[in-house]
Amino acid sequence: MADHLTDLIEELCVANRILSHEGVLDAFGHVSVRHPSDPKRYLLARSRSPLLIEPDDILEYKLDSEPVKRTSVRLYSERVIHGCIYQARSDVMAVCHHHAPAVMPFCVSGKPIVPVFHVGATIGEQTPFWDQADEFGDTNLLVVKPEEGQSLARTLGRHWVVLMRRHGATVAGTSLKELVSRSIFLCQNAEYQMKAYLLGAPTQLRPGEIKLAGSINVMPSVVARTWEYWSMRLQAAGFWPPHVKTPGEAEAKQTAVGAAPAAEKKKRV
Ligand SMILES: [Zn+2]
Repeated sequence: MADHLTDLIEELCVANRILSHEGVLDAFGHVSVRHPSDPKRYLLARSRSPLLIEPDDILEYKLDSEPVKRTSVRLYSERVIHGCIYQARSDVMAVCHHHAPAVMPFCVSGKPIVPVFHVGATIGEQTPFWDQADEFGDTNLLVVKPEEGQSLARTLGRHWVVLMRRHGATVAGTSLKELVSRSIFLCQNAEYQMKAYLLGAPTQLRPGEIKLAGSINVMPSVVARTWEYWSMRLQAAGFWPPHVKTPGEAEAKQTAVGAAPAAEKKKRV
């Protein structure tokens, strides 16, 4: 399990940096993953810009979003978003909250983002809209109180994306790699939808198309392909996190692990 936890922490660092490098996260925003052996905990960095995250920045949190071990480092103020969604949705394994430029016009106008092309189907049929003022009146728009996080999780409901009025979006996934795909494809879809408005009123995919295309986009083989692509772009740009195996090293490790039983078998014969 220790090995699995180490691998997941490294994957979380890469996810932070991919989402930054691909324009989803900037100085703000954050991404978390549920703990691999304790569903009542999750992993999230200390307060730091996602492009800079490295393994030592990752902390364990309980679902009330308090750190498991007392710490003096600064924490993300909006971490209740993560804990409240993990509490509400046992199927969610990873969460990303961001203020990507591609989604902001929709968050400002209140117009829904709908899947307008096949890859965009990964966002699902609906992106519910959460207006913090409905329940809480005037706020600084940050989601910092447990009741605010719970309200956001209620609006997310059974969906994968929730838009937040004049703030940003929160995206959920059944794995970290699926979450990264969905977060990036949400932004691509928003950009295409926005451009399509120039040509007229874009229509969305049919419900059957959303179901069929959406299930292809989250297949492990497809998610592995997109992850490899974004990882290589990150590495080529020089932003690969320190103290994290590169894609080449990870593959070599896997080959070595896979080869061990065969070598053992040969010895026994
Ligand atoms: Zn925010």
